[in-house]
Amino acid sequence: MRALAIVVFAASLAAAQTAPTFSGRDALAYTKTAVDFGPRPSGSPALDQTRKFIETKLESWKLKPEVDQFTASTPIGPIKMYNYIVKIPASNASAVDRVVIVAGHYDTKRFKDIKFVGANDGGSSMGALLELAHVLAAAPRKDVSVWIVFHDGEEAQEGPWTAADSTWGAKHLVAKLQKSGEIKKVRALINIDMIGNRNLSMLRDTYSTSWLNDLVRQSAASVGMAAVFNDQTTDIEDDHLPYLAAGVPCVDLIDFTSGDTFWHNEKDTMDKLSAASLQQIGVVVLASIDAIAARK
Ligand SMILES: [Zn+2]
Repeated sequence: MRALAIVVFAASLAAAQTAPTFSGRDALAYTKTAVDFGPRPSGSPALDQTRKFIETKLESWKLKPEVDQFTASTPIGPIKMYNYIVKIPASNASAVDRVVIVAGHYDTKRFKDIKFVGANDGGSSMGALLELAHVLAAAPRKDVSVWIVFHDGEEAQEGPWTAADSTWGAKHLVAKLQKSGEIKKVRALINIDMIGNRNLSMLRDTYSTSWLNDLVRQSAASVGMAAVFNDQTTDIEDDHLPYLAAGVPCVDLIDFTSGDTFWHNEKDTMDKLSAASLQQIGVVVLASIDAIAARK
């Protein structure tokens, strides 16, 4: 507990220099609002409510998302899905076409037999993305545009994850960006997933692009967050895969190794989450954006 308090103190010092307003507490509050709507699988009324909440918060910061709406032909039938894209242009106009995407999913896994509210899995990413949009709107980066992407349909709709039944939103948006040619602007994608539990311990995903994995860890060290990352390597299938297939350098930031994630379990509830963890990831993501921007 003491060690954790020291880390948090270091985080707020580091945050004061780069992103004064990222608030783990606010990110946690946004997560709670969504979790209070109940289970939020794609196509559910609770996910409609979540979108409305996201829109209202964005509007209060004078942000309006672009909406990528489509109907997914899933194994359980057609489902209307919505990706939200919040674009925060570089303040230096000549850098506007250099884009970093920070993404995560906001849907939760559909279960028939348990009440799954996905506080960590689907909730924490949504809350952190919203707070990142808030911070970046107040302080756009000079040399890079940041697109905050809320993906729908990350989860398998029918049963266990398969390559065909997963990442519905990410696949759709990648195809759209390829068609428009905009995918070429994307220098890197940072995907966040399951980042809210206490005792956060981020693994190194082996699908992720090596230099970006290194860059995130170096950035974490530079803001006093090295302890948040462990040395375990695991291959994680997540929303970054369609982007990787399209040639975009990607990193997936996920805690799948600590015993505290309560993955796809009815115990994935708000009481397991920590504002300090969200704060740590928020600060690391902002430092990583700046490190990517500083690359030639
Ligand atoms: Zn999941």
